[in-house]
Amino acid sequence: MKYVVVTGGVMSGLGKGITAASTGRILKNKGYKVTAIKIDPYINIDAGTMSPFQHGEVYVLKDGGEVDIDLGHYERFMDIDLTSDHNITTGKIYKTVIEKERRGDYLGKTVQIIPHVTNEIKERIRHVAKKSGADICLVEVGGTVGDIESMPFLEAVRQMRSEEEKEDFALIHVTLVPIDTMDEQKTKPTQHSVKELRELGIQPDIIVARCKRPLNKSTKAKISLFCDVPEEAVISAHDADDIYKVPIQLEKEGLADYLMKRMSLVPLNDSQSWN
Ligand code: ADP
Repeated sequence: MKYVVVTGGVMSGLGKGITAASTGRILKNKGYKVTAIKIDPYINIDAGTMSPFQHGEVYVLKDGGEVDIDLGHYERFMDIDLTSDHNITTGKIYKTVIEKERRGDYLGKTVQIIPHVTNEIKERIRHVAKKSGADICLVEVGGTVGDIESMPFLEAVRQMRSEEEKEDFALIHVTLVPIDTMDEQKTKPTQHSVKELRELGIQPDIIVARCKRPLNKSTKAKISLFCDVPEEAVISAHDADDIYKVPIQLEKEGLADYLMKRMSLVPLNDSQSWN
């Protein structure tokens, strides 16, 4: 099993879900069986009890699971069916850990975030990925790096990164490159969010930069230098006029080439079908 984890920095609503869904679609086009997991760091068990005015559209899965719209993006982009197991929330994790504690599963130990909560997170990710029968599992960590709610999930990601083989685990960090009044692309928010990720012990493999217009070569070079990723791993995700064009745009930008190389993957078919 290979894992591609997607995190986000700077602000919410940047496009992590679209990036994860698009990456999955690109890998599917290369002949791989893909699946996806969305981590929502809120304490609600699922999105069913959340106001749509606050949370946006609640997406309903075939098994009746009420989840974040990102799972809708995954199903539509990757043409797969997901179940509520593919949505991991803090609520679900804590409920299981507390039930295990009451049953005495922890054999008298003090139950802690590390290792009990982080182990539960890793077990769930691996279990859901394996059960799906996929080759590659996309894992989107909702929220923004630095949020207190995301911390246990990012720690679990850090642990998984060192437990898995290097070619079986890649991390894509989605950030924002704003434009100043002089129409210059600014890399500082990206630098800061990568610094925040590194403080948690995680170095991104690929940076997907959301921006108004395509990233300039000099902007890519600067991000590469400051964030310690190769220039070819700095991907421009400029505003698309239609979100269904994003996978094609990211592939043109070289996301697939770099990711496949990084994960020792070769195209299994010649199909470039986007249907
Ligand atoms: P997140 O998962 O980070 O909260 P989403 O993936 O749900 O963000 O994206 C938020 C919104 O941004 C989506 O509704 C989508 O329409 C828009 N969006 C994302 N990526 C792009 C893009 N490359 N071009 C244009 N709009 C985008």
